[in-house]
Amino acid sequence: MSTQSLPTVGHWINGANVESNSGRTSPVYDPALGIVTKNLALANQDEINAAVASAQAAFPAWSNLSLAKRQTVLFRFRELLNERKGELAEIITAEHGKVVSDALGEISRGQEVVEFACGLSHHLKGEYSEQVSSGIDVYSTRQPLGVVGIISPFNFPAMVPMWFFPIAIAAGNTVVLKPSEKDPTAAIWMAELWKEAGLPDGVFTVLNGDKEAVDGLLTHPDVKALSFVGSTPIAQYVYATGTANGKRVQALGGAKNHMLVLPDADLDLVADSAINAGFGSAGERCMAISVIVAVEPVADELIQKITERMTGLVTGDGRRSCDMGPLVTEQHRDKVASYIDIAAADGATVVVDGRGVTPDGDANGFWLGPTLLDNVPTSSRVYTEEIFGPVLSVVRVKSFGDGVDLINSGAFGNGTAIFTNDGGAARRFQNEIQVGMVGINVPLPVPVATFSFGGWKDSLFGDTKAHGAEGVRFYTQVKAITSRWLDPSHGGINLGFPEND
Ligand code: NAD
Repeated sequence: MSTQSLPTVGHWINGANVESNSGRTSPVYDPALGIVTKNLALANQDEINAAVASAQAAFPAWSNLSLAKRQTVLFRFRELLNERKGELAEIITAEHGKVVSDALGEISRGQEVVEFACGLSHHLKGEYSEQVSSGIDVYSTRQPLGVVGIISPFNFPAMVPMWFFPIAIAAGNTVVLKPSEKDPTAAIWMAELWKEAGLPDGVFTVLNGDKEAVDGLLTHPDVKALSFVGSTPIAQYVYATGTANGKRVQALGGAKNHMLVLPDADLDLVADSAINAGFGSAGERCMAISVIVAVEPVADELIQKITERMTGLVTGDGRRSCDMGPLVTEQHRDKVASYIDIAAADGATVVVDGRGVTPDGDANGFWLGPTLLDNVPTSSRVYTEEIFGPVLSVVRVKSFGDGVDLINSGAFGNGTAIFTNDGGAARRFQNEIQVGMVGINVPLPVPVATFSFGGWKDSLFGDTKAHGAEGVRFYTQVKAITSRWLDPSHGGINLGFPEND
């Protein structure tokens, strides 16, 4: 099918839609229909420069505006978002494929960060020490950095940018967001909402593009900091390149999240949780559970309960009342499906094979039904690699200790969960596990906005997580002021390094 007559999504620069003249585009699909619905402009160097220049020009006025006035805009943005989130959810479903209720859920979790940022004045308070030396007071302020970049993945086109931009903007920075090529329209919609909320032009920019746009931000001298979320190899690259170019970088990477099930756990709760956390959003969540570590003898009974529940799941078009949508692209669907063959070849048992699913949707959609694998060898690529689809693996272990050792031996450290009724075991787990976000009888332990989101090991490069107090620290720099208001008793020449007296 010719895609030339389709609309092209451009950039949002200086408070307006801007068409691209780069001559390069990439297709945007409706994954439930399996067709291209629009083209996406991919920025060239001139467009990267124009985006950063407009953000740089907006910085002095925005950062000097009173905190009260900046927060008024944040409050308006929050109200508009809350009123109109249904529109945004439809956009997300049409480009990502997740079901509408799930899209609304991601917007609500992003809105939490907007609400956190509405109260940012509390977090921007400095410190003050009086009379640290005779007649001398020291105090600190937090000031914005300037132009900051956000590079986001396809799987949360609204929530992940909202982990960052509300705090960056409230703190007085200006933002250039580079969304995923796969679902860029949510970012443009949010830019229009900012304008309606009264945000001055240039404070929020959307630069669409691919590696060229990312590299442009990573090397641009006027970009002071970058927040990245995506796969581990790109996170590593962004961290290394950004820091080598003198920027502050936080780069959140991939995941392989395990759920440890102890024999005393409530297996109905575990089965429900495994289904929700394994197959929600078709497993395309960085906090999705992908491995169930069953401490024997629970595995057989648990697998039976999970399998019973899987038969009731409806995979289909996210606009209908289905449980799970398609995968984001045909290529990604094929890659995820290929792990089922790898599992079988490596000796795992394919308990439920999602390739045979009958979708409630167009036959051309990028479908793969929920899949369950048992006895997955930990040497298999199915176990060691991030699959990022509706494929749940079961690994059987003999003891709590074996389960903890297995989880701690992995390369990733994003999220994990333990299911048990034993408080002592749960407490030991939270203490010993080498993972950044831990759930106790909670399968998707995504911290609320007042805390910070981020993993350990290969799931995060940098030393600051997203939102909460760490987000505020990332987007501000501390200035310490030492002040003396002279009284007549001071003075005189002393070339030595000042000592306190
Ligand atoms: P991705 O790494 O392919 O893309 C992420 C971003 O990087 C996109 O904006 C993309 O345009 C850009 N990019 C891609 N290739 C690039 C390259 N070679 N050079 C420079 N930039 C490049 O990730 P994705 O497929 O969009 O998202 C899924 C991944 O994101 C999964 O690995 C998932 O675990 C991860 N993720 C992590 C978190 C977290 O909080 N740790 C949250 C959401 C998603």
